[in-house]
Amino acid sequence: MTRLLTHPEIEWREDGTPVATAFGDVYFSVEDGLSETRAVFLRGCGLPGAWAGRRQFTVAETGFGTGLNFLALWQLWREHRPHPQARLSFVSFEAFPLKAEDAARAFETWPELRPQADQLLARWPGPVRGVRHLLFEEDGIDLILHLGEIAQMLPASRFQADAWFLDGFSPAKNSGMWAEEIFPLIAARSAPGARAATFTVAGDVRRGLAAAGFEVQKAEGHGRKRQRLEAFYPGEAAVPAPPRRVAVLGAGVAGACVAHRLALAGVEAVVFDPSPEVASGASGNPLGLMMPRLDAGETVEARLLIDAYLAARDFYRGRPGAALTDVRQPPRNETEVKRFEKLLADRPFPLEDLEAIAGGGLLHKRAVILRPGQIVRSLLEGVELRLGASPEVDLAARRVNGEAFDAIVIASGMALRTLLPGIELTGRQGQVEHLTGAVEAPPSAIASGTYCIALGQERLWGATFEPAGEDGSAAISEAARAENLEGIKSLSPWWVHEAQRGGAVSRASVRATTPDRLPLIGPAPDTEVISALWARGTEPEAWPVLPGIHVVGGFGSRGFTWAPWAAGIVVSALCGGPAPADMPSLRAVNPSRQILRRLKKAR
Ligand code: SAM
Repeated sequence: MTRLLTHPEIEWREDGTPVATAFGDVYFSVEDGLSETRAVFLRGCGLPGAWAGRRQFTVAETGFGTGLNFLALWQLWREHRPHPQARLSFVSFEAFPLKAEDAARAFETWPELRPQADQLLARWPGPVRGVRHLLFEEDGIDLILHLGEIAQMLPASRFQADAWFLDGFSPAKNSGMWAEEIFPLIAARSAPGARAATFTVAGDVRRGLAAAGFEVQKAEGHGRKRQRLEAFYPGEAAVPAPPRRVAVLGAGVAGACVAHRLALAGVEAVVFDPSPEVASGASGNPLGLMMPRLDAGETVEARLLIDAYLAARDFYRGRPGAALTDVRQPPRNETEVKRFEKLLADRPFPLEDLEAIAGGGLLHKRAVILRPGQIVRSLLEGVELRLGASPEVDLAARRVNGEAFDAIVIASGMALRTLLPGIELTGRQGQVEHLTGAVEAPPSAIASGTYCIALGQERLWGATFEPAGEDGSAAISEAARAENLEGIKSLSPWWVHEAQRGGAVSRASVRATTPDRLPLIGPAPDTEVISALWARGTEPEAWPVLPGIHVVGGFGSRGFTWAPWAAGIVVSALCGGPAPADMPSLRAVNPSRQILRRLKKAR
């Protein structure tokens, strides 16, 4: 099955109104679309008053369309943000994502939304099925897009909305969006006290909302429409407070991404690491290459790696220490030629990101060359660091070096094992060769087993992947150096020439890998209680966790790919925001899976 979704075909009326041909309905009316959005959805949900005093507020929408509602909400948020570090999450569903150029054309109608529209367009996601998380750091906005059919995406989503914009096309033309089964799913994702608003007063919609538990009333309509709906989900809004102080164990890219996101949410993060410098472990190579690993199969790992890759690329873009590059991937053998052919036919990626090249290889466009140290340092700017000594950690008491924290995030690579004995990690040593003072070259990379990166006067190639010593230490070796050189020989004569200039410096580090190759992201399992429950034959819906303890790790050699995605998951869980991934993905990376798998095996 292709992961690509289809763009909608759009007809433009003379006045500039976009019409979705397939549905025969408008996205908005040019005459008063923006004022209608404000009247129906913003005021209909009691905004901005409803977010007064809130540190985290979540709005959900059915039908992202052009993003007009989102932009109008964003503008209102800028004017009425309830706290300098308050966060607005916008969760929206869309099965037929617009092309960027169509969205741009739609936005031409609203010059006053220009500043937000430009930022959104610069990062407009491609039509890849899945959950996309875009962070607009300056305004504290998380945009979480569930791209796919609502009937599939909504049941798999995890969040609690404080407000709902119900904005499918008119119910008569868009039955899928207003199907009876959708309303209970909406109710299940509504916080007590949530409000919902829509332009339609269709009887089925009123009945569907009421049957799901909403109190529904008609309100005076906007413009030519006589009436609209407002609905209220009964209950007293519980205002979740984010944690105040969080300890982050590990100053590599995993910990840095978590600390950075916590800081954005106004949470004090304190980062601990035994090394005297940040990014001194697996995150410390002088250069790194982040490119997609595309699998022809529909495996969970393949799907999650695409989600994580897209999140990471969006996150690093524009930061100091990140440069876009094309990566050539020549095939290693005939089997790979076939695999690449199938991949191109399956189109797992927007075609602007992937191309066939002569000789049966692939060209990955817009991949990223990273300067890991620079990125980690910039993410940790302004964050309190405690480096140079192994921290004393008491997970049960949530104390580090005797100091109490509201939560602890374990992002310490292999050291995770000593804190959570139930977790299985294997150390894999990787060695790279780094050369400086070469002839100035534009960013470029080639990868097929071995990878080579050229950036300015630097070259880097590697990496080996071999068992690490039991103590977790890494040692450089001549054998690994020879293996790296051997790896280049099949890639390009230019690179062999570069590598043989001499003067390259080797660096080795240990990457923490899991048996199933999936990362560990989420609450720390309470291994003892889980095992006891298991022994008694009890299988609770949610397996017990150590309260306030979270894990990010097991990233293998893809630390920079997994880290931003993982940090989004863990920090939103800590701060009460919507999960930026669907539930099957969260389950697949949940650290408890290891404990359960072992117990099942033993049975
Ligand atoms: N809120 C949008 C805006 O601000 O531009 C307008 C939304 S438009 C009226 C309705 C949207 O719902 C369209 O973008 C359409 O593609 C989407 N849609 C329709 N049926 C859907 C379905 N079954 N699942 C997900 N999205 C759907």
